[in-house]
Amino acid sequence: MKKVIVLVGFVCSLFLSSAQVSHHEFNQMLSEINADSIRATVQDMVDIPNRFAATSNLEVAQYIAGRMRQYGLTDVIIDSFPINEYTWLLHDYVNHNLYNVRGRLPGVTISDSIVIMGAHHDCITTNPPFYNVMYENTAGADDNASGCAVMLEVLRVLQSHGFSPDYTIDFMTYDGEEFGLWGSEYDAATRHDAGDKVIVMLNNDMVANDPDDERVVTLHWYDNAIEDRDTAVSFCQKYTELTPFVPMGADNDERQASDSWNYAQNGFRSVFAIENNFSPAYHEPGDTTGLYNYDYAAEISKLNLAMLIHYTTVAGVPTKVEDVADIATVSLWPNPTSGIVHISCPKATEGGTTILVYDVFGKLCRTEMVNDAFTTLDISNLPAGMYVMKLMRQNQLLDVCKMMKQ
Ligand SMILES: [Zn+2]
Repeated sequence: MKKVIVLVGFVCSLFLSSAQVSHHEFNQMLSEINADSIRATVQDMVDIPNRFAATSNLEVAQYIAGRMRQYGLTDVIIDSFPINEYTWLLHDYVNHNLYNVRGRLPGVTISDSIVIMGAHHDCITTNPPFYNVMYENTAGADDNASGCAVMLEVLRVLQSHGFSPDYTIDFMTYDGEEFGLWGSEYDAATRHDAGDKVIVMLNNDMVANDPDDERVVTLHWYDNAIEDRDTAVSFCQKYTELTPFVPMGADNDERQASDSWNYAQNGFRSVFAIENNFSPAYHEPGDTTGLYNYDYAAEISKLNLAMLIHYTTVAGVPTKVEDVADIATVSLWPNPTSGIVHISCPKATEGGTTILVYDVFGKLCRTEMVNDAFTTLDISNLPAGMYVMKLMRQNQLLDVCKMMKQ
């Protein structure tokens, strides 16, 4: 079960209970990621008669939405919109409805900050050497039932633990990726226009090919999300058996070839995970379930699980074995503030205590060591808005408070 911290007091007017996963439970979650479960989802998707990018993909959208509801998500929508675009692959216009799926796990602390985990659910088959598009035999196991299966596996494990994030998670699958990233283009632009606070978008596209068990994952990255790339690198090493590969220069151009690109284009941070050993059956009829390594996809799922917990809980991934037992009651005033905040934290006298201030995008804005029971923080240089203040001692979360800057 999640660890819930409840603050009592009367000085801080915006107390919050924060989602926190204990170290034990986090390890438990990682160990419950199951390769057979991922494989079964891939097979289900391969068995859907049609996932072809140029025809209606309502059936696969309904399958994904059904799985999300089965795992307890109550806010699941199939986001349908018309498309009328030319694609060079077909030498023709695609003119029909696309179907994105969005399953929302609402945040309990700052629900309007959103972390997206996404993957495209459509596929195509082309016929070499001329690469004309074929409508038949679109199995799409690796590209990209595997990415959808990883997302559903992470959701399965989180929901079985009753995980309740601080920030909202949108689990998404996209239509129309293969012809021009259309589903994600629509979603990213819609969110941009609505002013959505997207913390990060985690994209998985082709994450099951690893015939020799090399367990290398390529992490394509975007200029506005270098920190996020580095987090993914360190999480591969800490929580998985994956060796991360970070492409540089032209090797990173493939970042434009999947849905995360549209989020980057709209100013949102994103990370794109893809197998380092590229599928030999890419866009071919042989892209079927049996070709792939689901233990490898399970490691990719562990990376995604760790990233999600990191990005959607104020406390982040737990670093201590014990639950947080020693809760320091922190008070801050005035709140809202125009600049100066007074902080009372009796436990700070024990030393090694740090105040971390995050904005609604999860970006760290201030770090301050505190040694006294009373501290004053000047945040007059920060823009107006909501902030989250974390009080940490040696990687252990002591307390969390919301703070409003006027
Ligand atoms: Zn793909």
